[in-house]
Amino acid sequence: MKNAILLLFAFTISTATWAQGNKKAEIDSKVSELLSKMTLEEKVGQMTQITVTMFEDIKKPGYFDASKLKQGIQDYHIGSILNVPNPGAPTIQRWQETMTAISNEANKTRLKIPVLYGIDAIHGASYTAGATLFPQQIGLAATFNTDLVKRGAEISAYETRASSIPWVFSPDLDFPRNPAWSRMWESFGEDAYLSSKMAVALVDGFEGNNNVGSKYSVASCMKHYIGYGSTTTGKDRTPSIIPERILRQYDLTIYEAAIKAGAKSVMVSSGEINGTPVHASKHLLTDILKKELGFTGVVVTDWKDIIYLNTRHKVAETKRDAVRIAIMAGIDMSMVPEEFSFYTDLVDLVKKGEVPMSRIDDAVTRILRMKFELNLFQNTVANLKDYPKFGSAEHIQEAYKTAAESITLLKNNDALLPLNKNEKILVTGPTANSMKYLNGGWSYTWQGENSDSYAADKFTILEAFQNKAGKENVLYTLGADLENENDAEIQKAIDLAKNASKIVLCLGEKNYTETPGDISNIFMSNSQIKLALALAQLNKPVILVLNEGRPRLISDFESKMSAVIQCYLPGNEGSRALVDIIYGDVNPSGRIPYNYPRYPNSLEKYNRKYTESISENEQNNDAKYEKSYLPQFEFGTGLSYTTFKYSNLKIDKTEINNNDEINISVEVTNSGKKAGKESVLLYLSDNFASITPEFKSLKRFEKINLEPSETKTVKFTLNQKDLQFVNEDLKWISEKGTFTVQISDQKKDFYLK
Ligand code: BGC
Repeated sequence: MKNAILLLFAFTISTATWAQGNKKAEIDSKVSELLSKMTLEEKVGQMTQITVTMFEDIKKPGYFDASKLKQGIQDYHIGSILNVPNPGAPTIQRWQETMTAISNEANKTRLKIPVLYGIDAIHGASYTAGATLFPQQIGLAATFNTDLVKRGAEISAYETRASSIPWVFSPDLDFPRNPAWSRMWESFGEDAYLSSKMAVALVDGFEGNNNVGSKYSVASCMKHYIGYGSTTTGKDRTPSIIPERILRQYDLTIYEAAIKAGAKSVMVSSGEINGTPVHASKHLLTDILKKELGFTGVVVTDWKDIIYLNTRHKVAETKRDAVRIAIMAGIDMSMVPEEFSFYTDLVDLVKKGEVPMSRIDDAVTRILRMKFELNLFQNTVANLKDYPKFGSAEHIQEAYKTAAESITLLKNNDALLPLNKNEKILVTGPTANSMKYLNGGWSYTWQGENSDSYAADKFTILEAFQNKAGKENVLYTLGADLENENDAEIQKAIDLAKNASKIVLCLGEKNYTETPGDISNIFMSNSQIKLALALAQLNKPVILVLNEGRPRLISDFESKMSAVIQCYLPGNEGSRALVDIIYGDVNPSGRIPYNYPRYPNSLEKYNRKYTESISENEQNNDAKYEKSYLPQFEFGTGLSYTTFKYSNLKIDKTEINNNDEINISVEVTNSGKKAGKESVLLYLSDNFASITPEFKSLKRFEKINLEPSETKTVKFTLNQKDLQFVNEDLKWISEKGTFTVQISDQKKDFYLK
């Protein structure tokens, strides 16, 4: 019987692989047939992406000017459109009308090639009114729950397709090295392994496990390849310096994982690495991405980035030359996006022999392949009847669950939390009463400034408290502005606090993304620090709720806070999840996916080198120097209302050869009184190596659920790749010696022969 089942399994797998191979061959032949019929102009048009607002009627924002749309699609043969029509976030019905107009125009062209529409749906279909909005990516990482994250991406894909859009500019695979970066929250935090696991979950969810042609899947777009999030200054789109050894050991592994999962496209970083703008780097785009990693999808530029090779980066003397450099580096599609110069210049470059037709054919093949894979030749417009679950209670519940698993309890002195619903509290702080801060940027509009009107039916933190504990138990005042000092408001908060037994202080940041989010001071704003210090003097417990995209430093007042909760940018359902955690209806289980710095000159990562934490590791009693490694909260911190005890860490071998795997197990017991979820994190340290080893590095994780007194055995398997690092010759190698496995307080060594 067992054999028969195995045989059936093998047969099913091989039939599926065969069918996939067949489908691929069928698409390849359709692509080459179509390509053979295309003129140069039609081909270059396919490589041109224009923003939708270029085709709008000036007098009627949000609606097309038919002659402009005709010009774009018929005369310039454009292959792709992006972005949101004014004034932002259309309903699915409006999206359907918009897409119908585009599709009708495309059907009037000679070859009827569908237009590929792309959108920044980065935490749900975030540009569609009424869509389900999830936590932003940094919160997804904090869940350490890839199943939940994948389910969220499936919902996001469903609701994006319900909006007739087949392509999302997500996931963000940036690897921020400076926590001040304005897009820190769009990433999965500071660990490459966690990022790659989350990347795969998103790609699988978006693309329906390699079934991108389904009407419920969308093509994903990894961004921003590569090094974008690693600027030295922490300011957006400023230069990065990343040795290739480092790039390969960390940043590239995330892309590699997402490419293996089948990601259909990639967006290029607007930045430069070591002096070369990535859009101009043949080494990064063609040699590494396309050849070495075997990426067969579409390489699209970021906003205006070919033009910027000329006007910002100054590596091209003219816009025309910028086009040549970028296309020869390996760009397939230009997000031009507000003019047609790319089209005219590229046609001219090919005619004059400066760009070979083979490069154009490669690019267009990739684009057409994606269009066939997405089934756009059959249909580009959604039949709304197919999407009854758009914005449904079922989807909202998933967003709530994700928010609940992301919110991270960082401190809980004397088990102050959970609170009792009957006690009177003061809720105050500038982020307490707005949906803008819960959602952040890329929500309904680019900077997310209109969340309060689009999400008027959702609850701010204050409203969620009032719903849960009754208005009579919740006092409120703003307390402080986000930036401007306001002593009168502080006084109001102090006065109100007299009637409350506890204070919930909601601090954070304005909504932002990209350059508008740049900061020069990573501390929490003065106006908020002042409020925190004033409230701390009242001798009442203060629960600090952080609602922020990046860790704004709180060391000026953190020691005076009794509890600290990080809720990141938890989305439309975030406040309910937060309040359920505060009152104990949900047991928190998030873990922070980055080191929360204490000081601006101490930005070490958890996987630091030993020399970054000397005083921690050396028994030097004479040391007068400041302890060098002392984050406010370390990567992986996350408290629960129950306690977990780890025991019996076992490894199946203490000595291994080069090809061996190592099986590891550990017992985890819920030793407290509440059911709870625990992310079990396995770290590995290579004790000595020719390239200075990391202090420790995350290699595996699993989130489990435990009832009180329940014990589970969690098993992991490490393989050779886990023991390797990139050496000076840019090769992944392992070296003999001792390695230490660490799970919570349990440690075991093994020796690689
Ligand atoms: C951002 C990208 C985004 C693109 C399209 C750019 O400014 O850097 O992340 O996908 O715009 O909106």
